Amino acid sequence: MNDVQTIGILGGGQLGRMLSVAASRLGLRCHIYEPGAAPAGDVAHAVTNASYEDEAALRAFAESVDVITYEFENVPTSALDLLESIRPIRPNRRALAVSQDRLTEKTFLNEIGLATAPFADVPTEGDLGGAIDRIGRPSILKTRRMGYDGKGQVRVGDGPAEWTGAPSVLEGFVDFSAEISVIVARGADGQVAAFDPGLNVHREGILRTTTVPCGLAGAVTTDAVLIAARIVSALDYIGVMGVELFVTPRGLIVNEIAPRVHNSGHWTQAGCAVDQFEQHIRAVAGLPLGDGKRYADVVMENLIGDDLGRVPDLLRAPNTQVHLYGKGAPRPGRKMGHVNRITG
Ligand code: AMP
Repeated sequence: MNDVQTIGILGGGQLGRMLSVAASRLGLRCHIYEPGAAPAGDVAHAVTNASYEDEAALRAFAESVDVITYEFENVPTSALDLLESIRPIRPNRRALAVSQDRLTEKTFLNEIGLATAPFADVPTEGDLGGAIDRIGRPSILKTRRMGYDGKGQVRVGDGPAEWTGAPSVLEGFVDFSAEISVIVARGADGQVAAFDPGLNVHREGILRTTTVPCGLAGAVTTDAVLIAARIVSALDYIGVMGVELFVTPRGLIVNEIAPRVHNSGHWTQAGCAVDQFEQHIRAVAGLPLGDGKRYADVVMENLIGDDLGRVPDLLRAPNTQVHLYGKGAPRPGRKMGHVNRITG
């Protein structure tokens, strides 16, 4: 493992693309595995365009790389089993299993002593009434699996509750004053490094901006980093993780963890000598981590759908880094790129 030359990445979206660019700066190659369109393929050494059921393709992919990582957490278990029999998967399977399912995720977080929103398991529509009696209203019904960018979520207000159509958890509504996230990394040697917490603003369930510094008291940001470090240590984790937190008067509540580089960590490209993508590559390749120190104030803004029309102006703006993902035609709600504005 000390001699990693080629990293296999499951998923060919923008995160895979930026991981591949970071790997190339360290003289490493990436091989992307993606069943659909793969913007990451444009900047990678090799691309396999095949389904997660294609055992021959999975086997050939694994044999062509030294270590396997991923840019999204919903890779089917059967594919992971086969891949893991050939090459190590970093971050490990436990991290994936925990974060693929909101019920296991919240249960794990509570087990290691961290606060989450109150929640109830809702395996079927018939269980919803009982869950609402326990958790109360307002609350949010979320599918256990495959939810992202606010998809698979239903707000439970005063009226009759809608069903998500799949096994779900009901979460009590958290009256938070802010949403922050910590991008944390743990190396193969167990060393942990965290980037400064960022302040996140969402609209329609999609992240719009991340701002650093986040403007919260030092006691809150220290606590956030300690929480993130506790999670990666408990999972014996190798790689970068995104930890989303709600700030409440009673302390920090963990909303969700992502076992991968995270949209709210894109600011590190303009704010740190070693950004989250390089940090992840370093970790999975068994190299020493960067320290995570921030040397600039940054506002990251996602370019979603028609925001792409603003690119000519953004390219002229001072102190602004424009990142475009090469995805072709914009669609409403689709992340097409982002900008990092250096504000101080
Ligand atoms: P999620 O997909 O779980 O990250 O949820 C998307 C967004 O919905 C979060 O970033 C919050 O803005 C909001 N949200 C999710 N869960 C809760 C909750 N339990 N209470 C209040 N707001 C929530």
